[in-house]
Amino acid sequence: MMQGVPDGDDKPRAICTICGKIAYQNPKMVVGCLVEHGNKILLVQRNIQPAKGLWTLPAGFMEIGESAVQGATRETWEEAGADVEVVSPFIHMDVPLIGHSYMIFRAKLKTPHFAPGPESLDCKLFAVEDIPFDTLAFSSMLVTLNLYIKDLKAGKPRFHYCIVNKSLMNEVGLGKPILPLFNQFGLKSSSAVSFFQWFKPKWRRLKFGFIRAGAAPSDIHAHTVDNYFEC
Ligand SMILES: [Zn+2]
Repeated sequence: MMQGVPDGDDKPRAICTICGKIAYQNPKMVVGCLVEHGNKILLVQRNIQPAKGLWTLPAGFMEIGESAVQGATRETWEEAGADVEVVSPFIHMDVPLIGHSYMIFRAKLKTPHFAPGPESLDCKLFAVEDIPFDTLAFSSMLVTLNLYIKDLKAGKPRFHYCIVNKSLMNEVGLGKPILPLFNQFGLKSSSAVSFFQWFKPKWRRLKFGFIRAGAAPSDIHAHTVDNYFEC
């Protein structure tokens, strides 16, 4: 494989040096459920990296051969042992930096049973005021839960769309020039994110004089919500 810009294209791609085939990389769909039960919502505590030990909505990568709804209910079954029925679409979020596109559905329990699957440490129903915002796993889930609370306060469920523009680069103080640099060398944005996740605690220790290794879920706040629509 080599990196190059194919004829008629304007982006660097991975090209096979033997047969010339181009390995295109496109965003992945993440699908999941916001399960409501008796004024509470179902969260799972992750037992796998990234974000092990932190809380999130049951969600995961959509598989070829299934629909978004099927994927969302499958992930909810796998992670929370919950048999759910999708009620309506809730939010579509794009996270361009890491090439993820989320579809989260409102859903309800078909039977009032749930239990953590192998990828989860725990799963629980949380009243809105008890949502563990200090130990949430992902920016996408922070945005989703905030919009859910907004809808609750307004007394009207809506459908939302937005772009979650993550800014890990800015947080480490190196600024945006780094990401084009990664792209220049044909590395994926997700590699840039992995690099910064690896680099950041080291940077913090440099910056703050080896005081603490930052276990900082505050990272999930390092984003802006853009192109927001609701209907
Ligand atoms: Zn080849």
